[in-house]
Amino acid sequence: MCHRPVQPLLEAALADQPLSASDGYALLAAPAQALPEICAAARRLRERCKGRTVTYSRKVFIPLTTLCRDSCGYCTFAKPPGGPAARTLNPDEVLAIARAGEKAGCKEALFSLGERPELRHELAREQLRSLGHATMLEYLRAMCVLVLCETTLIPHVNPGALTGHEISALRPVSPSMGMMLESVSERLTERGEPHYGCPDKTPDVRLKTLRAAGELCVPVTSGILVGIGEMRAERVDALLALRQLHADYAHIQEVIVQNFRAKPGTRMAGCREPDVDEMLRTLAVARLLLGGEMNLQVPPNLTPREYGRYLCAGINDWGGVSPVTPDHINPEAAWPKISELKAVSAREGYTLRERLSVYPRYLRKPERWMHAAFGQTLPTRVDASGLVREAETIT
Ligand code: SF4
Repeated sequence: MCHRPVQPLLEAALADQPLSASDGYALLAAPAQALPEICAAARRLRERCKGRTVTYSRKVFIPLTTLCRDSCGYCTFAKPPGGPAARTLNPDEVLAIARAGEKAGCKEALFSLGERPELRHELAREQLRSLGHATMLEYLRAMCVLVLCETTLIPHVNPGALTGHEISALRPVSPSMGMMLESVSERLTERGEPHYGCPDKTPDVRLKTLRAAGELCVPVTSGILVGIGEMRAERVDALLALRQLHADYAHIQEVIVQNFRAKPGTRMAGCREPDVDEMLRTLAVARLLLGGEMNLQVPPNLTPREYGRYLCAGINDWGGVSPVTPDHINPEAAWPKISELKAVSAREGYTLRERLSVYPRYLRKPERWMHAAFGQTLPTRVDASGLVREAETIT
C-alpha cells in the first residue's frame, strides 16, 4: 500500500493550516512507524495552546431513567421494561445523589438518561404519570430545578437528540449540555449494525441537535465513538463535521474520543475493542484536525492502567470523574481516584486542574453563552484562568 508522507501534513497542522479530509485519512492510515511523530506533533500543538494543564470535572452521575426507546448494540445502560433495573429515579433519589456529591466537593450534576422512553414504553408513561409529568424531558427540567434550588451543583444534561424548542427549555436550568455525535456513518444504522432501529442515532438527527444548540448559544460537549464498526475515514468525517459546527457557532466546548468497550449481554459483546495504539492514533489525528484550541477529552476509566499514555497524543481533559457515583454507562469501569489522576498526569509532566462543567472560554462571555442566572453566579466560582480555585479543589 502506498502511503502519503506525513511530515508535510504535520507541518501544515503546526502552522495552523486546516487539514482536509484527505489529509486526515492519510494521517489515520499512516504506517505504525509514523505514530510517534504524529503524536509528537499533536502534543506540540496542544502545549502551544493549552500549556501543561490537564483538566477534569468533579461530578456526580444521576441516571435519571434507564428506559430508552433506542437499543444501541453496545449499550448496557438502557434496560428493558420488566426487569428491576428499568427505573426512573424519583425526586428524593435525585436529591440524595446530588447531596452526596455536594458533600464530596462535586460541582457538576451530570444527568444521563435514555432517549424519549415514553414514546416506546408504557412503563415509562406510567412512571412519568406518577411523577406528575408528561415527558421525560419535562421531568428532567424539573429535576434540574430541584438540584439548583437545593444544592450548589451545576446541572449538565445528556438527554440525547433534542429540538431547538427543547434546548431552549433546558438552557435556563443547564448551562452546558452533552450529546455524543458518535459517528456520521449512515451505514451503522442498517440492519445488523449498532444503530439499527435507533431513531435518535441517525447522523442527521444528531447533527441537527448540535446545530440547534449552536444557534441557541449553548456550550456543548460532543464526540465520537471509536470501534463501533465505523471505518477510519468515517472517524475523520465525524471529526470534521464537529469542526465545521464549531466554525459556524463556536459552541463545541470539547470533543470526546471514546473507545468502544465490548460488554457481555450486548449485541456487540464479541466485537474487537480498539487497542491503545489505535486510540493514540485517533486522538492525535483529532488534535491535528481540530487545532490546538479545541478541548480534547478521553475518559480515563475506559483504559485503566494505560490512560496516562493518551497525554502524549494531545489530549487536555479527562472529562467528568466522580468520587461518589459509578460511571453508570460503563459500570464495570471504575473511575480512577482523583489523587491517582493527579499522579498519572504529573508523571507525564502535566498539572491536573479542576474545571466546571462549562469551559473557561464560555464563562468569560456569560451574556452570550448562558442564561442570566448562571451568568451572574458561575464566573464567581472560578479564578482568572476560568478554572476552579486550587484552594477549593479536593484531591
Ligand atoms: S446508548 Fe443511549 S440511546 Fe443507545 S440504547 Fe443506550 S441509552 Fe439508549
